[in-house]
Amino acid sequence: MTHEIAVVPGDGIGQEVTPAAVDVLNALEIDFEFTEAEAGDAVAEETGDPLPQETYDLAASTDATLFGAAGETAADVILPLREAVGSFVNVRPATAYPGVDAVRPETDLVFLRENTEGVYAGHEDRLTDDVATLTRVTTETASRRLAEFACDYVQQGDHDGFTIAHKANVMRETDGLFRETVADVASEAGVETDEVLMDAFATKVCLDPEQFDVVVCPNLAGDVLSDLAAGLVGGLGLLPSANVGPERALFEPVHGTAPDIAGEGAANPAAAILSAAMLLEYLEYDEEAAAVRSAVETTLEAGPRTGDLGGDASTEDVTNAIIDRL
Ligand code: ATP
Ligand code: MG
Repeated sequence: MTHEIAVVPGDGIGQEVTPAAVDVLNALEIDFEFTEAEAGDAVAEETGDPLPQETYDLAASTDATLFGAAGETAADVILPLREAVGSFVNVRPATAYPGVDAVRPETDLVFLRENTEGVYAGHEDRLTDDVATLTRVTTETASRRLAEFACDYVQQGDHDGFTIAHKANVMRETDGLFRETVADVASEAGVETDEVLMDAFATKVCLDPEQFDVVVCPNLAGDVLSDLAAGLVGGLGLLPSANVGPERALFEPVHGTAPDIAGEGAANPAAAILSAAMLLEYLEYDEEAAAVRSAVETTLEAGPRTGDLGGDASTEDVTNAIIDRL
């Protein structure tokens, strides 16, 4: 079976790390057909449009998209691309890797963040010079869809259950509905859950991250708390992410275009390659995903290393080392 993959490198180091991820996928014995498409500042400068219709249509029709990064135009690129794949959940692992300086090296957790509503879908108003308001939206449909995804994730990935992070003691209606729906779905599926207030979570995860494994959150909480956990594992530079929809998904490193090192061939390809591992898992190539992850981990530990990790190896050196270890 052939899998059609859209490749959208975008700007800056996206142009360097995305091809590295494609090279790793090509080293596996899986039949991929890659189609490259443009997005971001460079194409906007040429055509006035940061996200050409062809790119949107491609992401909306292929099995999966590998995205790199976009510069100034990021919001005009990534938000519509997430919509193109119908993404309802953002999967954000926060794993500390060996050989990488981490505040909490024992951290190994994953956030499943609701990706369509909450305050980000809310309607903001400026009522007067003095008063601005925001309506927060929670639906049972979106909460249920996220919870069903979380239950599958837990059952397929050999996790004990998941933690629901919320603030239903204050936001009784919106987070109340979220909490209740997610807990109900889990209980029907026989998945164990516990709950934590999102503010308490922020403290607990800093003091003792090992008490958490899979964390299910509303949109804003997931955004903030996953960035907080990224700090615990040594920053955004190594972290992958997935935006999953009902029929397709988009995978991207959490880092941006890194304009300070772009064009030098010095970017660390680990986050993009780990995003490709998430793509493999999504397409149910679990063994291959584990092999890629393990090759990345060995390389982070044993080298070669790029400048961000104190080495002087190039993107290509690191990519080749990962492929050799596969
Ligand atoms: P953007 O606006 O596109 O997000 P930025 O200036 O915020 O750009 P980031 O890409 O978010 O830059 O990166 C922040 C810092 O981390 C930069 O100093 C960058 O060089 C470094 N960095 C990020 N990703 C990588 C990577 N893959 N390899 C090496 N260094 C990286
Ligand atoms: Mg940035």
